Amino acid sequence: MLRPRLDLGGGRMTYVFQPPQVITLPVRGIKERFPVHLVYCVGRNYASHALEMGDNPLRTPPFFFMKTPESLIPDGSDFPYPGGSNDVHFEIELVVGLKSGGRHIPAESALEHVYGYAVGLDMTRRDLQEQAKKMGRPWEAGKSFELSAPCSEIVPIDEIGHPDRGAIWLEVNGQRRQQGDLRQLIWKVPEVISYLSGLFRLAPGDLIFTGTPCCVGPTVRGDSLSGYVEKVGELKINVV
Ligand code: MN
Repeated sequence: MLRPRLDLGGGRMTYVFQPPQVITLPVRGIKERFPVHLVYCVGRNYASHALEMGDNPLRTPPFFFMKTPESLIPDGSDFPYPGGSNDVHFEIELVVGLKSGGRHIPAESALEHVYGYAVGLDMTRRDLQEQAKKMGRPWEAGKSFELSAPCSEIVPIDEIGHPDRGAIWLEVNGQRRQQGDLRQLIWKVPEVISYLSGLFRLAPGDLIFTGTPCCVGPTVRGDSLSGYVEKVGELKINVV
């Protein structure tokens, strides 16, 4: 791959301060961990959610935003209600974890790049996101804040294959709030990978949050959020 790189200096490099650690997720059934590279998210990928957001539910090309790997928090975590917002929403999502990448990946071979799947929450400062949308500004303040991406362990495809159907739901304090089926994804996982690789060079360790079904809503301190994706598993967090 020909591209300019900073001189990484091998193992002899010293630093002016301690560099950040590699961010990792646990993998079901083994002790080796999944090292995270970048975190991509699909902006609108279930018709039911597109409609509730006043957006187009048709198969117009998908669009993407990113979170930072530092946004990830593991299953069972406390999620501190973030500052800067009075309207923090939950969005339950199927997450794809890549073991390889590249550019211009055809949808037909896209699943060969998948290591496994996880259950994720795309926590959103909806008020800041709506403000950004109105003003034509970027979404980072609404989407990429600290600890905004709770994510379960990764389940390898050897165990579950590639789930393309099955329930996806979120309960708040035991009440079902979001409910959908992976069959309702507007852009299926292979198509999402293919589109994304037309825009970015995908790499091992990339995560893709694939979008949320209806019905997103606000959460408050004291809430217990419990998400589920059939075959993949569960994710629980407490809003504190
Ligand atoms: Mn989302």
